[in-house]
Amino acid sequence: MTTIASAFDATQIEATAARLARSHPADIIAEALTHFDQLTISFSGAEDVVLVDLASREAARLDRTFQVFSLDTGRLHPETLEFIQRVRDHYDIPIEAYFPQSEAVETLVREKGLFSFRADGHGECCGIRKVEPLGRALADVDAYITGQRRDQSPGTRAEIPVVQLDPGFGRDANPLVKFNPLANWTSAQVWQHIMAYNVPYNPLHDQGFKSIGCAPCTRATHPGEHERAGRWWWEEATQKECGLHSINLER
Ligand code: SF4
Repeated sequence: MTTIASAFDATQIEATAARLARSHPADIIAEALTHFDQLTISFSGAEDVVLVDLASREAARLDRTFQVFSLDTGRLHPETLEFIQRVRDHYDIPIEAYFPQSEAVETLVREKGLFSFRADGHGECCGIRKVEPLGRALADVDAYITGQRRDQSPGTRAEIPVVQLDPGFGRDANPLVKFNPLANWTSAQVWQHIMAYNVPYNPLHDQGFKSIGCAPCTRATHPGEHERAGRWWWEEATQKECGLHSINLER
């Protein structure tokens, strides 16, 4: 099958993004399923469960397949781990877990302790626990799907397109194609879908967690606070990306 990755250059990806800019997330996921055999969903164990739900429906309709992976950083909440298992069972799909390299974690903890990110920023720890495993998770695919939304982070995600090339990852010098089907959806629309279709969700959301990441770097937010305020709250808002979406910082 010819893929967008090999057949489209950056200009054509932009045209595809423009064509799909106002499409429903299900239609964007259908486009990804139709064009890519090696397609995976990056599932964080939070609201992006909507992607798994939509992809399951669209894949059944189109008779296509997809993969799902999550990054087990070793610092996730127990509730998140339970939830990931629940999603596996609910949709009857494998969710591949990628763990950090044990030697790198051991060196970091030996030299800087367990909470170095509070002293010198989250970049080093996220690099070891998230970015390096992400590279392995994406090593053998042509495209991936993320749950990024524009309303998640005015500082870093306000302009993300529904599809883009990600030069940070890819194989044979070809950048990966990255779909962001929820880019245009608000948090309210995501929750409307979750409730309307009885989609399982992480119980931490009922405890005030809007955005969910690693336990030591995520807190519940107060009413009126932006969801990203619950992540790395000791750092500047413009730096609140963990390296998985570093392209957002470059835009
Ligand atoms: S979110 Fe926090 S604990 Fe998790 S990888 Fe990043 S710095 Fe480390």
